[in-house]
Parts: sequence; structure tokens; C-alpha cells
Amino acid sequence: MSQKPPPKQFIKTPIKGTKFTLLVSSAKGGVGKSTVAVNLAFALQSFGLKIGILDADVYGPSLPKLMNIIEKPKSEDGKAMIPVTKYDAQCMSMGLLVDEQTPMIWRGPMVISAIKTMTQKVLWKERDIIVIDMPPGTGDTQLTFAQEVKVDGAIIVSTPQDLALLDVKRGIQMFDKTGVRILGLIDNMSYFKGDDGKKYKIFGESGVEKTAKEFSKEFLGHVPINQDLRSSADKGHPLTHSNPNHEVSKIFKEIAKKIKLSFQ
Ligand code: ADP
Repeated sequence: MSQKPPPKQFIKTPIKGTKFTLLVSSAKGGVGKSTVAVNLAFALQSFGLKIGILDADVYGPSLPKLMNIIEKPKSEDGKAMIPVTKYDAQCMSMGLLVDEQTPMIWRGPMVISAIKTMTQKVLWKERDIIVIDMPPGTGDTQLTFAQEVKVDGAIIVSTPQDLALLDVKRGIQMFDKTGVRILGLIDNMSYFKGDDGKKYKIFGESGVEKTAKEFSKEFLGHVPINQDLRSSADKGHPLTHSNPNHEVSKIFKEIAKKIKLSFQ
């Protein structure tokens, strides 16, 4: 797979304390990106990897809720923050620093500054991988990561319908243009398995797989619409950690295996 090298003027700073940095991205909101990011992180943990999860969605952080974290990150020197550890994962989110009800009414430069703080001033320790839950779209956060942070790979999450796929194509092109290696695409809410055992393709069929093929990217897997996945997220205990033998957790493990291989 050929990727253009990044423009020379950008100096990309690695996130200290981790071997690999993985972006989980979606070009459109509400496709289940955060749910996939967190469950994928714990699927990677099930292979013995030490994980960190960074919620980079400054405007709409969801990690505190997905992980039921109420503790605030501490700082020993008033500058660098110690991530909050839950289920053996080190976690950081803007949502841990501000009140849940407080809207982030920020202009671009403030977002860029927050991303730099969260990637350079957080004391991640001995992590194999940090999974970064990106905000949707192709805005300031994406550009900051693409230009200033050393990223080892990105995955794009989408639902199968045409409207979401249009945005996916934009997302692929953004990563390609900025020299971020795309590890593959995930089709979330791919189907619903009824009590009759049949798979109902509510949002259409195979669109993400076709898009992956069209852009010569790897297709990583189909994640079904599943009530246990949703309810575990609402309870703040991701399914791949709370019920690792669930059929959906096994699907996440298959995807995690492919991601792990692409880092070796
Ligand atoms: P995004 O990060 O793309 O905005 P979220 O991860 O917050 O999306 O998901 C939006 C909603 O959809 C949440 O309530 C989440 O629990 C639910 N959800 C996401 N993926 C699935 C799925 N595969 N099956 C069932 N519910 C899902």
C-alpha cells in the first residue's frame, strides 16, 4: 500500500510513555466511533497489551461516561497530568477536567492547545498502545494530530449507509494527504441479529467493505448492532472487558488481532 510521506516542514512529536499511537476516527458523528474505540482498546488489552485511551473529542468527550470515571486527573507539579487508571487502562479526557454539564465554547487555537496538552503533558506510563478517540470530521483536531503528533496508524469507523460513506471517503483522503497510515476500515452497526438468527442489514449492505476496496485499504470487520454493547457502554463497563466471551467481544478481538499484526 503506497502512502505519501508527510511534508517535511512538520515535526511530529511522539506521545511519551507509549510504543504505539492509534487514531480511531470517523468522518461523521454518531456512527459508534467512541464505542468501537473503547471496546477495541480492551480487546487489545485481552492480548496482554498495556493500554491507554485518550479521548480527543474536546467538544463532546464521552470517555468519562463510557468508563464511568468520576475521578479527576492529578498533577504533582501543576503542569503534567497523571492519567486516571480504570480497568488497568490509563485514561485521559477533557471531560475529566471540566464539569459534565459545561459546554466547551472554544475557538480553533484553544482546541489545538488542548490537544497539544493532552498529547505532551500527560504522564502516560509504560503503555504498549494508546488508542485515541478522535472527534468526527476533518477539523482542527485531525490536522493537529496529522501535522504535530507522531501517529503509527489510524482506523476509520463507519456505518454502511451512503451518507456516512461519503464522509469516509473524505476521511481517507485527509489521512492519505497528511501521510497518516490507515490500518483499515470498520463497519459498525453492520447488521442486527434477530432472535430467529437472521442478520438484518438495517443500514444497507457491505458499503464500508466496498469503500475499503475502492481505496485499496484493508477491511477490518463488521460489528453488529447489539444491545449488550450499547448497555455495557451506558453502564460504563465496556463489553470487551466486562464480558470478553460475548460474541461481539470476539468480533472485536478478531479486529484487534489484525491491528496488532499491523504494528509488528
Ligand atoms: P460516536 O462516537 O460516533 O459519536 P458513540 O460511540 O457515542 O458514537 O455511539 C452512539 C450511540 O450508539 C451510543 O449510544 C452507543 O452505545 C450506540 N452504539 C454504537 N455502536 C453500537 C452498536 N454496534 N450496537 C449498538 N449500539 C451501538
